[in-house]
Amino acid sequence: MARVHLDDVTKRYEDIIAVNEMNLEIRDGEFVCLVGPSGCGKSTTMETIAGLTKPTEGTVTIGETDVTTLPPKDRGVSMVFQNIALFPHMDVYDNISFGLRLRKFDKDEIDRRVQEASDVVQLEGMLDREPNELSGGQQQRVAIARAIVRKPDVFLMDEPLANLDAKLRVHMRTELQRLHKQLDTTIIYVTHDQAEAMTMSDRIAVINAGELQQIDPPLVCYNEPANRFVAGFIGSPSMNFVEGELTGDGLTTDHFDLEFDPTDLDTAADDVTMGVRPEDIYLEREADSATSTSETIEARTDVLEPMGDEIFIYLSLDGASSEMMTSDEASTASNQLLMSVDPDTEIEADESVSVVLDRSKIHLFETASGTAITHGIAALSAQQSPAAGSSGVAPEAESGGQHE
Ligand code: ADP
Repeated sequence: MARVHLDDVTKRYEDIIAVNEMNLEIRDGEFVCLVGPSGCGKSTTMETIAGLTKPTEGTVTIGETDVTTLPPKDRGVSMVFQNIALFPHMDVYDNISFGLRLRKFDKDEIDRRVQEASDVVQLEGMLDREPNELSGGQQQRVAIARAIVRKPDVFLMDEPLANLDAKLRVHMRTELQRLHKQLDTTIIYVTHDQAEAMTMSDRIAVINAGELQQIDPPLVCYNEPANRFVAGFIGSPSMNFVEGELTGDGLTTDHFDLEFDPTDLDTAADDVTMGVRPEDIYLEREADSATSTSETIEARTDVLEPMGDEIFIYLSLDGASSEMMTSDEASTASNQLLMSVDPDTEIEADESVSVVLDRSKIHLFETASGTAITHGIAALSAQQSPAAGSSGVAPEAESGGQHE
């Protein structure tokens, strides 16, 4: 177990800045996912920790040792990659023990460690099989066992589940969490899949364009995203964004207004983007009266997507069609809102509906910088004149609160 510390790490490839002034403190025994879109610098960050690439600037510390210039073998790290590179002509036992044999470990010690590791990843009874006799998931477990036998201080995993089918990936997520508990080791895990990051991590490090956006527990990234990028990246389907302007009475957008007292908001910006998640929009007729809800927004249901456990409704605010849009595109188009409702909701396409937003879950971001201003306007409405709450639902101050 060891802490990993990146101090102002920058990695340049000629004119490409793959990683930009990254400061990252990963604690002893923590499971941290580095998550972000393709090309954002996740793998390069991981490679600087592994020693596969040297940072252009900055230092990497593992435990108490500055490892910036140390080769991978002297860093106490083990790696598992997306492409499972097993030796095809060796059986599972020899694949797992390869590194130990290379380092001339004693035969009894090798035996003991292979047994222990194959127990952990549940490969008992398969040690004499060759890789082509194993499923994709079993092969990945061999790769993990090979990393375990080295008893590393830190596990580095770069999209290790990416090549597995969806069902197996979900199963392996659970296995990796169990493994983390059992081994009590620091794990740094790269993925572009926010759902994977949400379900496994102690904390998520969200990266965009080589820069760390936020490092926090999954639910903090979900409930209190530091900026618009994190808000849009974490959560599926994505948060809806609607651009507007801050006035003395609240927020004005092309399609609706939100009334609140903006005086206490910590921003000098006039151009402000509202964000609300699909799960925080309600049909007015079904809104819980205990929830502080926004003014009524008139919309038309465009496309319905029954998912089994919920229905996604693409709402058109001005009659525009969302056809051919993906859920992510729809949630970022300012004349669209994507909402999700219970599967037994009676609703049809092309129906006029009144919807309300949960005021405690309305996020505001500065449009220019993307920085979060607040994660809830319910508390602001308490200072508001009786004009607020034109939906007929009494607004109540509640916990969503203002971002400090
Ligand atoms: P991710 O893992 O998030 O997909 P990477 O860390 O692989 O992103 O890449 C970050 C950026 O650095 C990309 O623009 C990529 O093209 C660039 N890059 C990565 N490795 C190299 C390299 N060896 N030479 C030049 N550019 C590279």
